[in-house]
Amino acid sequence: MNEAMLAAGGRPTWAEIDLDALAANFRQVRARVGAGVKVMGVVKADAYGHGAAECARRLEAEGADWLGVATPEEGFALRRAGLSRPVLCFGGFWDGQAEGCLALGVTPVVYRLDMASALDAAARAAGRTADVHVKVDTGMGRLGVRHDYAAEFAGRLRGFGHVRVAGLLTHFAAADEPGRDCFTGDQLKRFRDAVAAFRARGHQPEYEHMANSAATFAHPEAWGNMVRPGGVLYGLWRDVLPPQAGEPALRPVMSLRTRVTLLKAVHAGETLGYGCTYEAAREMLVATVPAGYADGYVRALSNRGRVIVRGQFAPVVGRVSMDLTLLDVTDVEGVRVGDRVTLLGADSGRVLPAEDLARTAGTLSYEITCGVSARVPRRYVSAE
Ligand SMILES: *Cc1c(COP(=O)(O)O)cnc(C)c1O
Repeated sequence: MNEAMLAAGGRPTWAEIDLDALAANFRQVRARVGAGVKVMGVVKADAYGHGAAECARRLEAEGADWLGVATPEEGFALRRAGLSRPVLCFGGFWDGQAEGCLALGVTPVVYRLDMASALDAAARAAGRTADVHVKVDTGMGRLGVRHDYAAEFAGRLRGFGHVRVAGLLTHFAAADEPGRDCFTGDQLKRFRDAVAAFRARGHQPEYEHMANSAATFAHPEAWGNMVRPGGVLYGLWRDVLPPQAGEPALRPVMSLRTRVTLLKAVHAGETLGYGCTYEAAREMLVATVPAGYADGYVRALSNRGRVIVRGQFAPVVGRVSMDLTLLDVTDVEGVRVGDRVTLLGADSGRVLPAEDLARTAGTLSYEITCGVSARVPRRYVSAE
């Protein structure tokens, strides 16, 4: 038995990634901001579960100016996959990664002086200059140099001759909440002050960037000269954008699919699944599908989710378990073993957006797509 034989066939649970939808969403962003603003395609966390290398490749082909990741490891993986656009690493870097960032052209975000020091040493040893983007914390309270310390930080950075501040950035805490527009305005003003402080101390950053998806669509005053959208590229927007963004024509990119493995008649009064949480109120036809919470079909959808089978919605019955989920297909005409089941995404003109699953499960659409686990193979489709 060789590898090819072992890889043949297999469990019919997969995530279909529509690269044409990704491209169309990218073009929507490009059209929104115009040619004068650069676009960084954010592909951190394996492109929100969609597959970083494949998505980055398509974004590069569509003209993304930069790629954004969370960790150096993610940046190195993009380089190994042959991606050539500049890569910004939002999270900075950790012990021992300064050299790798420098060697592979992964530009780190910097927010502590010892980071500048490590890069300075690595760059000096390599006879080079290390580009960095400095993050300013203007109100998120997470990563970044506090805005009221930015001027001093800018001054101290002058001490590192092999480090060049190529960009300045900040991140909004509530760009998606119209009720917090005042706070967003404060963040913007603090950022502008920090930029001025860096320039006054002799730094000449080419890039000033602030905008995530929400700010890209709702706060043009915060575009700077580059935007950093993630979610909207993957068609995730209903729980990401504020109402003033309107209803952009963004397409879902991921569809999570499986197939009916077993059909059985269940009698009134019988219970289904762990904990006997569902009791049949009538004679039912129940389908078992080979996908569960270990695949990222979250357990909070137990007795609450719905799927698409033969162009019809069918409810999830009983608890979602690790590897299996049960569906009430009593009303699905002609249902058979092997029928395709869509747990998330589009099928036969019907759509189950990740945002809907997220609302039912009490979370954000990003967590739904990020949560589709490594056990689920990604299949990339493109007609263009
Ligand atoms: C994740 C992230 C983004 C993208 O945010 P979306 O809401 O997905 O558009 C932009 N900038 C930074 C620093 C991030 O961490």
